[in-house]
Amino acid sequence: MSETEKETIQETEAPVMSEVKKVRNLRAIVIILVILAVLGLMYLHLMSPSRWTLSMKVKGSQELTLYQGDKYVEKGCTAKCRNDRTGVVRTLSVSQEGEVDTKKPGTYTITYRAKYFGNSISKKRTVKVMDNLVDARKASMYDTFSSEKNAPVIGLYGGKNTTVFDAFGFYDGYVATDEKEGYITDRVKVTGSVDKDKPGTYMLGYSVADKDGHITMAERLVTVKKFPVPKLRELNPDEKIIYLTFDDGPGQYTDQILSILDKYQVKATFFVTATAYDKNYLNLIKKEAEHGHAVGVHSYTHKYDQIYSNDQAFWDDFNAMNDIIEQQTGKRTTIMRFPGGGSNTVSKKYCPGIMTRLANEATVQGYWYFDWNVMSGDAGETKDSSVMVERMKAGVEKNGRSIILCHDTHEYTMNAVEPFLQWALSRGYSFDCLQNGFFAAHQKINN
Ligand SMILES: [Zn+2]
Repeated sequence: MSETEKETIQETEAPVMSEVKKVRNLRAIVIILVILAVLGLMYLHLMSPSRWTLSMKVKGSQELTLYQGDKYVEKGCTAKCRNDRTGVVRTLSVSQEGEVDTKKPGTYTITYRAKYFGNSISKKRTVKVMDNLVDARKASMYDTFSSEKNAPVIGLYGGKNTTVFDAFGFYDGYVATDEKEGYITDRVKVTGSVDKDKPGTYMLGYSVADKDGHITMAERLVTVKKFPVPKLRELNPDEKIIYLTFDDGPGQYTDQILSILDKYQVKATFFVTATAYDKNYLNLIKKEAEHGHAVGVHSYTHKYDQIYSNDQAFWDDFNAMNDIIEQQTGKRTTIMRFPGGGSNTVSKKYCPGIMTRLANEATVQGYWYFDWNVMSGDAGETKDSSVMVERMKAGVEKNGRSIILCHDTHEYTMNAVEPFLQWALSRGYSFDCLQNGFFAAHQKINN
């Protein structure tokens, strides 16, 4: 480079002024080009991917535990690159993949990515969404225990004093959560056991430790009682009794069903809802009661995922429906039917053991729940009224006492009522409405 420059200078010394100027300009251009080339090479050298270190910072916790229904706040992520030679730092834009749906329990992953020329970097955030069952913090229908701050929390479904009945048994529901480690229920050690067939009092002990060595212990007293014997109306040797029950209404066919029942002076039982079908028919609850029928709680919302998500959710929904019944009839009811029946398994998906606890709790609270021993078939099996009538006939012929499951929300159910009543009354069957303590046709609880 310096030699070239020398040669250029030597050449420009001899000629006339204009030639000298030209040469000087040329020299200046060459110098500038050379400088630019050098700067360019330096720039490329410094910019080469190997010179840059990328870094990424996930804001907030990279492993997060939330509970169903919690709000997920995306705190984001930042990325930078730093030049190792010059120390220059640049902020990079970050792309994000994945979403968190806190309505659905599960594990979600969010991936953050950033690039700078040939370099790239990525980081992940794992968000665990627990169902409400595992949320010991929100323990409202059960007692919670914690030995100290930062120690795990144990929540006992059913509370530290639980009364259960031999007919339903005991389902030991508990949860343990730790602020740092999340759901640690699987680490709970239980001592003691309950014999559901032997009335008495049993003591259960629970303990759990987190990884920092904090230990929390809990105790529960379980009292096992004999289920009260239903008050059975004396039946004559040949007498057969039918309890017609209608679920899910009131709806658009309820009024006509009431007229048919009136026509034959038959009393029935309505397990009512508020939002399953149509709120415009709620005033029919009043009419049902006025016409001498029994009214029981079925559900306000009839949404399985909601009412069976936890014990408190069930009783909130139940009480909301009983409020409406009170507004309509002037008094609260003590009879009920679980959506899906006491034997439903759908609730298992949302909350293991909940049906066992609800059956016990309902009885402790003085409520009386009913299942059925005859299905009319209108719960999805048939839409044919004559098939329904045949099913009901076959069902009641087998039983001394029959509780028939119907739904006053279908036209085909309405059309089956009259022919069935005509047949049953002509055969000497009697009809009655259900009351607290009556024969309940309980099915085996499966959850
Ligand atoms: Zn129902």
